[in-house]
Amino acid sequence: MKVLVVGSGGREHALCWAIQNSPLCDTLYCAPGNAGIADVAECVAIGAEDVDALVRFAQDKAIDFVVVGPEGPLVLGLVDKLTALGIKAFGPSAAAAELEGSKGFMKDILAKYGVPTAAYGRFKDVEAAKDFVRKNGAPIVVKADGLAAGKGVTVARTEEEAFAAIDEALVEGRFGAAGAEVVVEEFLDGEEVSFFALCDGESALPLASAQDHKAVGDGDTGPNTGGMGAYSPAPALTPDLQARVMREIVEPTVKGMAAEGRPFKGVLFAGLMIGKDADGKPVPKTLEFNVRFGDPECQTLMMRLKSDALAALIAAADGQLKNIDLRWHDETALCVVMAANGYPGDYVKNTEIRGFEAANAVEGVTVFHAGTKLADGGRVLSTGGRVLGVTAKAPTVAEAQKRAYQGVDALDWPDGFCRRDIGWRAVGR
Ligand code: AMP
Repeated sequence: MKVLVVGSGGREHALCWAIQNSPLCDTLYCAPGNAGIADVAECVAIGAEDVDALVRFAQDKAIDFVVVGPEGPLVLGLVDKLTALGIKAFGPSAAAAELEGSKGFMKDILAKYGVPTAAYGRFKDVEAAKDFVRKNGAPIVVKADGLAAGKGVTVARTEEEAFAAIDEALVEGRFGAAGAEVVVEEFLDGEEVSFFALCDGESALPLASAQDHKAVGDGDTGPNTGGMGAYSPAPALTPDLQARVMREIVEPTVKGMAAEGRPFKGVLFAGLMIGKDADGKPVPKTLEFNVRFGDPECQTLMMRLKSDALAALIAAADGQLKNIDLRWHDETALCVVMAANGYPGDYVKNTEIRGFEAANAVEGVTVFHAGTKLADGGRVLSTGGRVLGVTAKAPTVAEAQKRAYQGVDALDWPDGFCRRDIGWRAVGR
């Protein structure tokens, strides 16, 4: 088969790395890709949101299967356009991608189909939103309805903070059209985990759990980022809880989306809060859905997956997941993100990174590229904020952590940094 992966992050490097191992894959393209992806796929200079150019490329090259990494092109309808032309693609239609594209839509679906989540209201009107805050009190959470590059959520400790967040979105227009409506919701306490399931429109197949670290600094301090590291599995999501998440959250959502005439195909990424009921028993609730793999969670999932990833993605697109039985390595995979100095604020670009061979030579380690490009003489330069995902697999999370940092230390990049405590929660358990 000829396969095209869309995207340029660590997630897409991990997907390409897994897909090129599949006996089903003859030729692998990635648009636009990066310096690491260029080792395993032919990179094509088309942006991930240039939907028309991607469709033309897929037609010109007679691509058999397209795997869409990021949410942007999904919400823009890339999968719809490919499907209309008879080109098979992995990922939801634009109508199904609304689960991520509109938090209000997502909450309404959860409410309608009885999926556990925080109590909420949807508001376009400033005073109505503030009344909801006054009625419910702080802490409380304010969310821009649309895609806001991970910056649209304010966990407000006081009512004043919540009012300010409402004003920012509805009055000052900080998020543009994405913030023309807000969801205000109950604050949920507990431990956050991510859970991933493949969906084929009618049924769902559990993938795995993961936990990420959003804050930029050690000890989960400092501003939030796109993710500074992750590990899989997440020990907080026991097998019992995972079964419950499938039964109470994933399956009713997939059934509900089918009933709404928006069958969900692709990967459903559930952000969960594991709280406690009155008896102290764990209760999973849905914080959010994403309609694609997490980055960096995907890197850890692909390292743990033993089965043919491409066959599973095709089965999801074909509505044939019932024929798939996935096998996993029992080991833990842990990914340490290396970012450019200054991230998540202004950061340096075009700085040289060396030492890939030494880092990849550490037992169990693979360095996935997230924001890199190739320059003359085969030099690798940083191009983004999050630049590398040094990922290690090992029998225990402590060993995976040790190996990942050995990989980090083998790299030579004075202009980058990473957190030194990825996995602390699981290591301490
Ligand atoms: P979201 O993009 O909706 O997942 O929100 C981003 C982050 O905000 C989550 O990962 C949580 O840490 C936090 N968050 C979102 N909703 C809530 C909530 N209802 N209660 C507590 N924290 C939340």
